[in-house]
Amino acid sequence: MKSAIIIFFSLLGFYGLKAQHTHKGAKPLFYPNIEGYVTLKTDLHMHTVFSDGNVWPTIRVQEALRENLDAISLTEHLEYQPHKEDIPHPDRNRAYHLAMAEAKEHDLLIVPGSEITRSEPVGHSNAVFISDANKLLHDKPESAFEAAKEQKAFVFWNHPAWYRQSPTGDPILSDFQKKRIENGELHGIEVINTGDYAKESLALALEQNLTIMGTSDIHGLIDWDYTEKGMHRPITLVFTKEKSLSSLKEALFAGRTVAVYNSLLVGKVEFLKPLLKASIKINSATYHEESQVLAVELENVSSSDLLFKNAMPYNFYSKAPIFTVKAGEKETIQLKTLKNIETIDLKLKALKAYTAPNENPIVEWKLTID
Ligand code: ZN
Repeated sequence: MKSAIIIFFSLLGFYGLKAQHTHKGAKPLFYPNIEGYVTLKTDLHMHTVFSDGNVWPTIRVQEALRENLDAISLTEHLEYQPHKEDIPHPDRNRAYHLAMAEAKEHDLLIVPGSEITRSEPVGHSNAVFISDANKLLHDKPESAFEAAKEQKAFVFWNHPAWYRQSPTGDPILSDFQKKRIENGELHGIEVINTGDYAKESLALALEQNLTIMGTSDIHGLIDWDYTEKGMHRPITLVFTKEKSLSSLKEALFAGRTVAVYNSLLVGKVEFLKPLLKASIKINSATYHEESQVLAVELENVSSSDLLFKNAMPYNFYSKAPIFTVKAGEKETIQLKTLKNIETIDLKLKALKAYTAPNENPIVEWKLTID
């Protein structure tokens, strides 16, 4: 009897422990790897009570685990500290250390970061992969950027299209930023921040060769701002050689990213096309019996609903030429090929994917017909 009780409790302990390590929430994010790279899901812009956020750093870690992210950064405003009276913290690395302790048992990378916060024309920028946030505290913004460079940080321009800094809602590349880019002190730009995608920011990213970023800039709860509304937070997919901090940093400097906000995907063509291609698995391609109508089953293995337009010379049978393959779901299209063929280049234009302002990539899959 006694041993049965012991077995019972040890099983309880075992399963209890296992349960404790299943942190995925109701809507975990999934994106496929692309050829030669591991796809990491990251959110490198968020806040806690250590600046103007409303939660303790541990919550940010738990939210990230629930959404199945691979890397996050707590980027507290260095200069804007509204909770300082209640939560004094002479060490500006404190939020990072608390997040590190929380993430220790988990497969989540914590990137040390800070937000350099000024009014326009300097604006806000995140320095990530820093070694000491305290050393970024300077009166002159130029000195803060210099210090970030000394720490070999990756620095990106936050919400350049924010109407409170740029009243037209269009980003303005100031002389300050031009100088930072020239000095190798500014490497990336948010094209998606919170819910806002600015195509003008994408134009700047391409023109200045800055890394394309998408971030939540969350201050409250991910659940309230996104999940509860049936959405995911904006993220940056980073195509890395392996899942590690050093690989993530290398890939950010190399510009291997796609910014994602639910069904919207924004990135350089050389990364966005392979991502879309890998996101759709072709399960089958078969002619209906004694006909020239070819049924092709597509499966979306990503967490973004994908909106496509037929870009082939063949018309669709029984479906509009614009259609959605929902995240994680299957969809069959039927092509009228007019004669029986053995191979086909399936070509679809991804209508909510942007490789430049107003430019949608056409993705191709080579199919052999069963
Ligand atoms: Zn911020």
